[in-house]
This record gives sequence, structure tokens and C-alpha cells, in this order.
Amino acid sequence: MSKRVLAIGGHPDDMEQFAGGTLALLSKSGAEVLIAALTAGECGSHDLSSEEIVKIRRKESENGAKVLGAQFLNIGIIDGSLSYDLETTKKVVKLIREFKPDIIITHPTVDYMTDHAHTGKLVLWAVPESIHPNFPADTKAKALEKMPYVYHTDPQGLIGPDGQIVRVNTIVNITSVIEQKLKAFAAHNSQIGFLEKGKIDAVEKTRRWAFTRGQQVRIDCGEGFYQELLEEYPRKNILLDILDDKVFTL
Ligand SMILES: [Zn+2]
Repeated sequence: MSKRVLAIGGHPDDMEQFAGGTLALLSKSGAEVLIAALTAGECGSHDLSSEEIVKIRRKESENGAKVLGAQFLNIGIIDGSLSYDLETTKKVVKLIREFKPDIIITHPTVDYMTDHAHTGKLVLWAVPESIHPNFPADTKAKALEKMPYVYHTDPQGLIGPDGQIVRVNTIVNITSVIEQKLKAFAAHNSQIGFLEKGKIDAVEKTRRWAFTRGQQVRIDCGEGFYQELLEEYPRKNILLDILDDKVFTL
């Protein structure tokens, strides 16, 4: 049976940037892929109003997801305001119960932006509660029967708080889809312009991260993930089952 993959990002462009290659490969394999952005991306402009930039980013997100063969959903929390709290957890539980993913891909629990780190932590709060019928969420969807597989992406720049490249336990060979990934990320045109004002060529930077993870397993381009292996989480590396020799378990 084809797998259901839910990529949960803090902002509308995050999952393209950190997991776009793997999402493209999963979609090609027949998986149903949904990219959900918890915030609408209001802070991604110096010049436009919140309403204006949110409208632009919604369209860009739909375009980016389409390049990867995915659907897009915006949860609509205000950018920069993503709290690690009960009310937000209920929203993530609702999302998980309604989509019923086999696999969740999300941020790491430590990253340079609180929206990213909180997203990673919210998923870890929400996943066990998504199988508890008595945990309240604003949905008629039933509790899941089992916990999905959870993978954390790399942090921004692959760098952890100690200044070192973080450890990952899975690298996916995205060499065949690197241009597709970068095209999906570049679909977030307003952000590329926004980031370049700060002299960051975001697309080329993202390509360099892929070279770095590729180098680690002697391939051209890779995406790194840390599969969540805390007690009760399913331990098998399910990506290996689906993507076969494109997946390296470290
Ligand atoms: Zn982000």
C-alpha cells in the first residue's frame, strides 16, 4: 500500500529547503505527500503588509509543492509566534489525525529559529497524543492506531549549537532530484529576494548543504535526517524500504 507522508515545517518554504529531494523521491515512489506549514510566513517581507505577503506565499507554496508532486496546507499560525504550548499541540494532533501519516518529516528540536525548533518539539509532543483517544483535538478524525515514523531534517546550515555539523542517522541520495528540489525551493520567489537582501544566495547555499551530506557517504548530493528513535517510536528505517539503495543508514 502506498505510504502517506506528512512534512511539517514552521514556514512555507522550509520543507522544500530541508527535505525537498526526499519528498520528490517519495512522491515518485507513489507516496501521497502533504507539506504543512504551521505559520503563514508574515515575517518574510520588509516592505509588504502581512496580508499581502501571506497571499503571495500561499501561491508560492502551492507552486513549490506541485514541483515535488505534493499537496500544500497552511495551518495559519502567525509567523514568529509559534509557541510550544498545549493549544498549538492540539492543532498538530488535529493535523496528524486528519492526514493519518505513516511517516512524518519535520525540523530538528534545536535550530537557529524558534519557529523551527518549536515545530520539531511540537511534533514530538503531538505524535504520542495522536494515538490517545482522550487527548482533545478539534477534529472528528479518530486517534491513530500506531505512531508514525518520525524523521527530523537538518538544522539551518547543518550546524548545531556547538558550531559542529550535526549528527544524522540517515542520508538520502537526492542526486537525481537536486534540480527539482532547488526549483521547488526557488518557487518561493519572495523569500529568495528577501533573503538575498541580506546577501544570502539561498538556493546555492541549499545546494552546498546537499554536497556536504553527499560527501559523507560518497555520493554527489544528499539530504540528512535524524530518525526519531526514542522509546515507543517505530525503529525500522522505513525510508530504506521505500527508496532502497538511495538510503544510507549511519
Ligand atoms: Zn523557516
